[in-house]
Amino acid sequence: MKIHEYQAKDILRQYGVALPEGCVCFSVEEAVSIAEQLGGSQWVVKAQIHAGGRGKGGGVRLAATTAEVRDHADAILGMTLVTHQTGPEGTKVKRLLVEEGVPIKDEMYVGLVVDRVSQKVVFMASSEGGTEIERVATKAPEKICKVVVEPSTGLTMDEAKFLAGAIGIPDTLHAESGKIFQALYQAFWDKDASLAEINPLILTEDSRIMALDVKINFDDNAMYRHPDLQELRDLDEEDEDEVKASKFGLNYISLDGTIGCLVNGAGLAMATMDIIKLYGASPANFLDVGGGATAEQVTEAFKIMLKNEHLKAILVNIFGGIMRCDVIAEGLVNAAKEVSLSVPLVVRLEGTNVERGREILSHSGIAVINATTMADAAEKVAAAGV
Ligand code: ADP
Ligand code: MG
Repeated sequence: MKIHEYQAKDILRQYGVALPEGCVCFSVEEAVSIAEQLGGSQWVVKAQIHAGGRGKGGGVRLAATTAEVRDHADAILGMTLVTHQTGPEGTKVKRLLVEEGVPIKDEMYVGLVVDRVSQKVVFMASSEGGTEIERVATKAPEKICKVVVEPSTGLTMDEAKFLAGAIGIPDTLHAESGKIFQALYQAFWDKDASLAEINPLILTEDSRIMALDVKINFDDNAMYRHPDLQELRDLDEEDEDEVKASKFGLNYISLDGTIGCLVNGAGLAMATMDIIKLYGASPANFLDVGGGATAEQVTEAFKIMLKNEHLKAILVNIFGGIMRCDVIAEGLVNAAKEVSLSVPLVVRLEGTNVERGREILSHSGIAVINATTMADAAEKVAAAGV
């Protein structure tokens, strides 16, 4: 789960991290009045979308007067912001963060992720902040310093000070930045985050360390323990189909191919996508209807898949273990009655009650292309979807 920058900043503020003063808003008038309340002589108007790279895309603008705040807010609010993380279609900006402009001397990067190899949280830091850290990672990996954090101790002050030194923070500020790093680690840990970044972490002209941009992603599977965080979810920023699917308990991820997949079980769904690729086609989605899908869920799954204008064929691949094939077949028949099937449908059923399932389909009058093995199904759907 992703949240906005201002929400991530609110979390870090609770952990004592130094941040610019600011407030979220939804209109130009509010933006101006926030700037007036903040006072000072420099402000920053920042688009709040669930993607980075906003600065380069024109979504972060400095203002020297409140009139400029008004102009920037007017320009950014409602714009379709395209960054390297939004994809070419961009994201419409509906919220702004207006905050005090801070005099920057140096921009650095710190970030935390779960490292699969060590199975621990790894703390990364770089003197090259503000830019795309992905590029530093590929072009100059030696510029990223890493510390694998021992879960029993958390990030120690010695480690935190070492990181501060490694990215060129002056000695006199090692204790102050060490506290920020420990706070970031603690927030990551407490909130079941999957990623937490401060980019840029800055050294100000008057020698303070501050977080100018914060990003936190959370582990969806842990969100049941954090009802307060769930409230931060902004459905406007999420894929409409994925949100709809999740309401029906379907595990759905949009992809950019043309073959719709309806599968039970995540492992089988992954294998199905692989074999579709092997036969020269591309999946339009990942969809796991789970072990005990109902006819209603199957119908919804069809509706979501059929909304995709790039869809050329559908492959239903069901292994009836707990799930019985006849139940799935009935679900398919109901779904086909409710939605008009505009593309070829390939069905592979295997497992419990498979004969009865096939019988139901063959008597249904739906134009089903039957398949036996995975390979047979993939070959047929790839051919049907040309
Ligand atoms: P993004 O990472 O999406 O591009 P950032 O919040 O990192 O957005 O902003 C981009 C750049 O804008 C920063 O690297 C920094 O140079 C500048 N910036 C952001 N917030 C402020 C601020 N409060 N004061 C001064 N400059 C800022
Ligand atoms: Mg940034």
